[in-house]
Amino acid sequence: MATATLDKKVSVPRPKIRRTECFIDGKWVAAQSGKTFSTVCPATEEKIADVAEGDAADIDLAVKAARKAFERGPWKTMSARQRGKLMYRLADLLEENLDELAALESLDNGKPVADARAADVPLTIQCLRYYAGFADKIHGSTIPIDGNFFCFTKKHPVGVVGQIIPWNFPMLMAAWKWGPALAAGCTVVMKPAEQTPLTCLRMAELAQEAGIPDGVLNVVPGFGPTAGGAIVAHRDVDKVAFTGEHLTAQIIMRNAAETLKRLTFELGGKSPNVIFDDADLDAAVKGAHFGLYFNQGQCCCAGSRVFVHESIHDEFVSRVASMNQSRVVGNPLDLSTEQGPQVDQAQFDKIMGLIESGIKSGAECVTGGKRVGDRGYFIEPTLFANVDDNMEIAQREIFGPVMSVLKFRDMDELIERANNTIFGLAAAVWTRDIGKAHKFAAEVKAGTVWVNCYDVFDAAAPFGGFKMSGQGRELGEDGLRPYLETKTVTIAMD
Ligand code: ADP
Repeated sequence: MATATLDKKVSVPRPKIRRTECFIDGKWVAAQSGKTFSTVCPATEEKIADVAEGDAADIDLAVKAARKAFERGPWKTMSARQRGKLMYRLADLLEENLDELAALESLDNGKPVADARAADVPLTIQCLRYYAGFADKIHGSTIPIDGNFFCFTKKHPVGVVGQIIPWNFPMLMAAWKWGPALAAGCTVVMKPAEQTPLTCLRMAELAQEAGIPDGVLNVVPGFGPTAGGAIVAHRDVDKVAFTGEHLTAQIIMRNAAETLKRLTFELGGKSPNVIFDDADLDAAVKGAHFGLYFNQGQCCCAGSRVFVHESIHDEFVSRVASMNQSRVVGNPLDLSTEQGPQVDQAQFDKIMGLIESGIKSGAECVTGGKRVGDRGYFIEPTLFANVDDNMEIAQREIFGPVMSVLKFRDMDELIERANNTIFGLAAAVWTRDIGKAHKFAAEVKAGTVWVNCYDVFDAAAPFGGFKMSGQGRELGEDGLRPYLETKTVTIAMD
């Protein structure tokens, strides 16, 4: 691990904090309770700003605004094409403010600003444009049923949707949720994660500037059990889309039972990334490194169980170790930084506890394992070799810069081990043998399979999990479906 030499550092300016209130019915308002909470810079542990702490009362106002905008007002009567136009305008405004948004994301979340510029903000824009283009292409079908009837289906927006998002990709998660909801004609009450509310609020400000009518997008910052819980319990919310931990999804599912809300979940993972001995080793090492350490390891699809063929195991480990040794860890607002801090103290503590567990269980800690500095939630890029399938570090989602390398011998053994997890979000395989790639892609239980690549995301390609990694899909046409109801109309013709 390295730190950038001072003269090489180029920091981007600290962004201005513009909005910290709730955004309800097109207005910026304090929480009804008057309460606020601090959002903290993970690199310095200093408060960035006090943000309105919404709870059930604010959610209720937001739901009423969203209902009014859904049932009456310009959103209901606007043509689908015009809805799409407003979404394109929002995407354009995000693009015009790309540097500021990237800096704000970096400040609030701790991710390297270079990553936010190259990935978070461009993918956010891509997602909104993708769904903007979908708005006027949503339609039903005509169905030849028995008898003299004319039968057709229409697609209706599902209604008022509650959207609860995590802190690892705050802007992008907002776009994954707003995109299909707005294209479908729904209205939204969003709760950003308490760790990272700032970019979502800024996006809401830009949405208003883009002309999205009042009440269509409402943002209520606050905590999970209070503000989030109120969305889930609210009788007038038709659907909840949630991204976060599977344990939280279990609570949400229980709490949504009363109102039988539609639910979609995008949850965690323990994704297998498999490297065969016939792979292009250079590409596999770089891809596996990126697939785990990108975003400080805080990706639901992180390739956190790296299965390496026994004949190339040692070579692989030594190459990843040397990449870790030269990785630039430090101030996320420096353009040269490759790894920033973890998002908060709780995540930091959880990761350090799991590193401790790895060491105690006998895995070999090849690099890292320790805190960096004494301020901010920085953790060294950590690499464990000789990991066994049953160790805690091979089973639990770590959500940090910790790679576990496991040896394997042949395909049959591998598939069984790759699937030996409660999760099924993503998987990858590195091989020059197309037959092996197909077999793995067919047999692995995962919503996304990458072959000779990792973390290739596109708004057009569906993403989501098998097993306890989720329900439903986001992105692509699949991602639009949960925001639509099908209405079947049958007309007697005689
Ligand atoms: P993490 O542990 O990574 O923060 P969570 O699943 O706890 O993941 O959080 C993801 C989102 O879910 C956040 O916006 C959080 O506030 C929200 N959340 C947490 N608990 C609940 C809950 N009981 N009901 C609704 N939302 C919740």
